[in-house]
Amino acid sequence: MNQSDVVRIASLIYSQGLASRAGLAEQTNLAPSYVGTIVKDLQQKGLVAEGDRAPSPRGRRRVLLHINPGLGELVGIRIGRANIRVVVTDFLGKVRTLKKLHVDVSKGQEYVLDLVHQQVKPLIRHDGAVKGIGVGISGVIGRKRGTVLFWPKVQGWHDVPLKQIFEDCYGLPTVVEDSVRAMALAECRFGQGGAYRDFAYVTIGVGIGAAVFVNGNFYFGADGLAGELGHTTIDERGEMCSCGNRGCVEVYASGWAIIDNVRRALQQGVTSTLLRPPDRHDEHLTIESIVDAARQGDRLSQNVLSEAGTHLGTALGTFVNLFNPQSIILSGAVPQVAKTFFLKSLSQALRHRAFHRSVRNLIVVVSRLGGESGAIGAALLVAEQLLRKFCISNYSDGVRA
Ligand SMILES: [Zn+2]
Repeated sequence: MNQSDVVRIASLIYSQGLASRAGLAEQTNLAPSYVGTIVKDLQQKGLVAEGDRAPSPRGRRRVLLHINPGLGELVGIRIGRANIRVVVTDFLGKVRTLKKLHVDVSKGQEYVLDLVHQQVKPLIRHDGAVKGIGVGISGVIGRKRGTVLFWPKVQGWHDVPLKQIFEDCYGLPTVVEDSVRAMALAECRFGQGGAYRDFAYVTIGVGIGAAVFVNGNFYFGADGLAGELGHTTIDERGEMCSCGNRGCVEVYASGWAIIDNVRRALQQGVTSTLLRPPDRHDEHLTIESIVDAARQGDRLSQNVLSEAGTHLGTALGTFVNLFNPQSIILSGAVPQVAKTFFLKSLSQALRHRAFHRSVRNLIVVVSRLGGESGAIGAALLVAEQLLRKFCISNYSDGVRA
């Protein structure tokens, strides 16, 4: 048996959740008897188990295989700009415990990591149940070393060797990834992403980020920086962006931009129900309060949300012309809360800007997963890495050659 074939079969079973021997042979172009031998071996090692049976085209019911959920527990951490989520999951990403806490990341990495360690330390028991740690973070990541290179608009996060910090502290394999990719992976496993091979997962919160899937795999780009959709220029003479460029779509369509646009209009005396108590102070302006006002007929709120949708739709039109995806899955507070006020104009602009042939079958949907998806996805990322290690280490240990 070729080691890389074993890893490939195990990884396919993991990414699909359930897989049949015949399906695996079809997808890999390996001989069915050879796939059967690999699966038998993975079963004997305790990595793969048999589950239910599913109908097959020839009428014989196929046995479905899955990765053993008991291979180990995982800790998944998502560090966002305003909150941290920590989950413990089984090996398949099923959540056993979830902790949420609010945080101001601009207080610096030491302050934030201190809070994270306070949550994580009690979870790492001495029985060795936890096998790995996944961290999804909103900063810009150097993927090879698991370093936070910098964090746009946030102070105190330059060249932070996050992977090394966690591995030194807990002695467990740690994966650090961009939080949008972590969320996208959870969407693939537990949400709507599993139905597509070529799609973009776009999150619109304080900023705008994207994860791009090509032929069922993440597209990382030469330096791992692919997916910076928020920094697509839509106005080359536009306002300055935190990245140093002008006219990035993030300046016009992010949650931060929506709140800032409403605030500026209020300061200029534009009539709005948002001026009434309790929303008369800036700190009461949130995406939720703006959407509430829009629902009650406030024109300013409706216009700002709609314009933000148009701007993002314009940027997505460029993306669709470049990648011709099957689907765009939107997530984050803005599309999940603002819904029609944002999505209608987004869809109109997207269909106006992109090739008709590229958008006629394009499906734009909003994620239904909760805010813990980034932490779950981070756990799944470390599980994928561990699974490869388990496959290989069993061989090198001479358990079964
Ligand atoms: Zn920018």
